Amino acid sequence: MPIVKTNTTQIAQPTQLRPYGLPTYNTSADAIAAYAGDDQIYVLYPRKIEAAARTFLNGFPGQVLYAVKSNPHPSLLQILWDEGVRNFDVASIREMELVAGLLPGAKMFLMHPIKSRATIARAYALGIRDFSFDHKDELQKIIDCADDATDLRLHLRLALPKGDAAMPLSGKFGADFESATALLQSARHVSDKLGVCFHVGSQCMVIDNYDRAIGYARDLVNAAGVSIDSIDVGGGFPVAYPDMPIAPMADYFHAIADSLSAHGFANIAVFGEPGRALCAEGGATLARVELRKGSDLYLNDGTYGSLFDAGQFAWKFPVKLHRNRPPAPALNTIGFRFFGPTCDSADTMNGPFHLPADTCEGDWVEVGHLGAYGQTLATQFNGFYSNHTVAVLSDD
Ligand SMILES: *Cc1c(COP(=O)(O)O)cnc(C)c1O
Repeated sequence: MPIVKTNTTQIAQPTQLRPYGLPTYNTSADAIAAYAGDDQIYVLYPRKIEAAARTFLNGFPGQVLYAVKSNPHPSLLQILWDEGVRNFDVASIREMELVAGLLPGAKMFLMHPIKSRATIARAYALGIRDFSFDHKDELQKIIDCADDATDLRLHLRLALPKGDAAMPLSGKFGADFESATALLQSARHVSDKLGVCFHVGSQCMVIDNYDRAIGYARDLVNAAGVSIDSIDVGGGFPVAYPDMPIAPMADYFHAIADSLSAHGFANIAVFGEPGRALCAEGGATLARVELRKGSDLYLNDGTYGSLFDAGQFAWKFPVKLHRNRPPAPALNTIGFRFFGPTCDSADTMNGPFHLPADTCEGDWVEVGHLGAYGQTLATQFNGFYSNHTVAVLSDD
């Protein structure tokens, strides 16, 4: 009888319980145990993505458009589609071709206010009729490149008065009050459907900002003296990062519904464009500790990987330690700073990230909430990147 060592050769095999198009494991620990490569591992949690999609599809008082830029991974797009998301907010030729190729029945909205002529023409050819704009020259470009179409559904992007978003997005795009009134009047004649859209800023933790924006849209429509067919309240729905407590999504949905009826928009089409709230919690990065110096951990993912926001905006993310060998991690935690693998000093994330006090080389750190604006931002700088994305069914 050979001596069987029970604790060494139990490599977890991927279980294809649903066709996510990815190696699928029950836990991230299983995904780590099965991994023979040297890179970071990107995780998608299909069940969390499905839950977020259901929250919006069941609760948002209008049609849900997924903002593809927050994470264009084909498996994630497919999960959203399978759950019932039918509308996709795209910005570039590559995003629209990705969605059209993967999900032929999807309805796309080209909501980038400033597009190349080739982008507009390609969009029109692909059947896109919903375009946003924030300037008269862009309006003319759309008309030119869509062959003087009479079936355009145009969405005027408004610049909003300053709010309190964690990541403000006004300032780059949007027409101010005066030009917006003139643009509504001129666009009315060339559009089949006309609407307004805005973005209150990403990770908007002040629910009232939606009401303020909707009230502002009402003032504008009154000033223009034209009727509109739709209002698009954009994205901005937040996620609970450490030190950023948020209200339940249902509170946002109720506040938006109340505001729409209070401002006389109860009978027009309503759109929302969540990105972060649909996919942030559905993605995580598993990064290995290569070296520890005091309370500094050198990881194999960093600001040039999926952790750009942790460096650039000192954004905090939930962290958890995985160690698949004894001893069990210490129960007390300390605050760590992270460094990524590249030789660039901007590859620094101050955190602090609270992990077991004895965290050491060979341990894996799971950084959560990176499904939005995390994995999609990763570069190949310095030769550090990962092509290994897995689906994980449970987050225990
Ligand atoms: C980025 C973006 C979104 C998504 O924003 P979140 O804050 O991630 O919800 C929606 N609409 C437009 C036009 C965007 O540029």
